[in-house]
Amino acid sequence: MNEIMFVNSKDRSWWEKDSLVKSYDLIIIGAGITGLSTAMFFKRNHPKKEVLILERGFYPTGATSRNAGFACFGTAGELLDDLQNESETEVRQRLHQRFNGLSMLKNELGAEAIGYQMTGGYELFDQSEEEYFQDCLSKLPTFNTWVQEASGEGDTFQKSSINGFDAIFNPLEGYLHSGKLIKTLAEKVLKSGVDIRYNTSVEKVKAHQVELSGGFTLETKQVLVATNGFASQLVEDSKVKPARGYVFVTNELEKMPWEGTFHYNKGYVYFRNLGKRLLIGGARDVDKNKETSFKQEVNPKIKQWLIEFVYQRLEIDTNWKIDTEWTGTMGFGATKSPDLRRTESGVYLSAGLGGMGVAIGMDVAKRAVKLLESEF
Ligand SMILES: Cc1cc2nc3c(=O)[nH]c(=O)nc-3n(C[C@H](O)[C@H](O)[C@H](O)COP(=O)(O)OP(=O)(O)OC[C@H]3O[C@@H](n4cnc5c(N)ncnc54)[C@H](O)[C@@H]3O)c2cc1C
Repeated sequence: MNEIMFVNSKDRSWWEKDSLVKSYDLIIIGAGITGLSTAMFFKRNHPKKEVLILERGFYPTGATSRNAGFACFGTAGELLDDLQNESETEVRQRLHQRFNGLSMLKNELGAEAIGYQMTGGYELFDQSEEEYFQDCLSKLPTFNTWVQEASGEGDTFQKSSINGFDAIFNPLEGYLHSGKLIKTLAEKVLKSGVDIRYNTSVEKVKAHQVELSGGFTLETKQVLVATNGFASQLVEDSKVKPARGYVFVTNELEKMPWEGTFHYNKGYVYFRNLGKRLLIGGARDVDKNKETSFKQEVNPKIKQWLIEFVYQRLEIDTNWKIDTEWTGTMGFGATKSPDLRRTESGVYLSAGLGGMGVAIGMDVAKRAVKLLESEF
């Protein structure tokens, strides 16, 4: 029988202690954009400190590698919606964070390496949403001033129309290749001298200690839980809940009148071209309660809704097929702001990046490093 026995922390060889298992300064749990970027920025500031990332997947299997590959900072509809629940200051601040995060992604990893393309994007409105469309249009001058503050670019949101939909066009939207993003980032992190262990599931986090399955324990001065939608599995009082998102990609199409990124139904539905293919996802609002789940499982109701939407509204080849489908787990907290805090002595949490972690991930990482440094 092949039995793998983990030795406990007192039973380690000289060689293991000297090179394989160290007494760490920082252990980060989760190798998504948040965990990897935090490790990168932390190590840059403190090259002599020992940093380790523990990831339970064979490769990172959270939202970062299972999203839809959008690089967006928010539609006019989303900004209008946010203003219902948050102050103007908070909404403007997040716009800055999203811009900041996206420019850091490009500067740190290189646009080409991560397939980042500024295609422009459209928010689509049905004819039946005329009132809502007008509300959004009336706020465009204000939103454009905010975007200009954050990006230096003027007149970003523009009234438009496309393929029978009323629309708001945004030239600063784009998409990227999420697989290339995580691979490039992980390679950069490894080169900086941070260790990453895959297939390593953390069972428990205590002050200055991380427990793996099989009773294997690691000592550390600080530990950061960066497991996003899975945060409540390790941090009991975390309010971050899992939120599943469904995505599919079609076969290559002859007729594909959608180039760039598109948001529909207040951002609940999103689609883009992937070469000659259509990538579409979302519609969580069709069955929101069932999507509050850790399971990677396709919800047939949501899949059916999206299929009908493609047939009825998108006017692509009539004989299209699904080539690949998947689900990914986002993390939604009590508010749109990530849950970034110290939970107990030496233990920190950075989770709940919602549907915008690609954009804000690196900005959140910078803030996480500041928090860690403030408590050396
Ligand atoms: C379908 C979908 C569409 C999205 N669309 C967009 C978008 O348009 N724009 C945008 O900006 N963002 C979007 N997002 C959100 C974005 O992808 C996430 O916010 C971001 O990737 C979160 O990164 P993270 O590093 O915090 O978490 P994750 O990428 O989820 O990483 C957490 C990691 O922790 C690991 N882990 C969990 N538990 C343990 C444990 N016990 N031990 C060890 N490791 C563990 C997981 O395996 C995972 O790799 C979307 C996400 C999905 C799923």
